[in-house]
Amino acid sequence: MMNSFEKGKLLVISGPSGAGKSTVIGRLMELRDDVCFSVSVTTRPPRPGEEDGKDYFFVTPQHFQELAEGGYLLEYAEYVGNRYGTPRGYVEQRQLEGKSVILDIEVQGAGQICRNCPDAVSVFILPPSGAELERRLRHRNTDSDEKIRERLLQAKRECAEAGKYGYIVVNDDPDAAAREVNAILTAEKCRAADRLNLVTEVLIS
Ligand code: 5GP
Repeated sequence: MMNSFEKGKLLVISGPSGAGKSTVIGRLMELRDDVCFSVSVTTRPPRPGEEDGKDYFFVTPQHFQELAEGGYLLEYAEYVGNRYGTPRGYVEQRQLEGKSVILDIEVQGAGQICRNCPDAVSVFILPPSGAELERRLRHRNTDSDEKIRERLLQAKRECAEAGKYGYIVVNDDPDAAAREVNAILTAEKCRAADRLNLVTEVLIS
């Protein structure tokens, strides 16, 4: 393999609560060492067990506003009353080091990334069926029936956006889904447009 430098990709992953995004991302990170995960900034309070700097950078609304206004966020959005954003510096630095950066973000933020970075790779993780989605949402918490119906409705609204993504991966089995995302990233890294410099190297040496 030629040693010409390849900048890392932006790998945008979205999907509703219950699609199993985090598990798929975790498995993908076990499959390859040229990827890293972007920890987002949020105004949401930490949930039990969440660690600052690992799950999120937890900030005040005022701090978030300063980051957004200062241009320190690559994208940001509001989701169910809280603000979330991707730190620009970390992502750009890791890409320059040749790492592909995984962003676990919701639909509005994904749209901003795809508009601003046309070579970003976007994948929507879809649950295998409505019934399975409901089963997963019921299983993971002790919410009231009404709350679960609300979450199910929200999840279905999010699934309706899947067609805006470059790829859709159905998460029936997290290992199989991670292998598909892995294949997508590998294929995207082989795009001719990104490798013309390699052709030049062959021609001039
Ligand atoms: P949660 O509060 O459950 O951790 O995340 C809620 C939603 O926010 C999820 O859909 C997650 O993908 C999304 N999210 C997390 N970080 C970011 C971010 O930096 N930007 C955007 N736009 N969405 C994010």
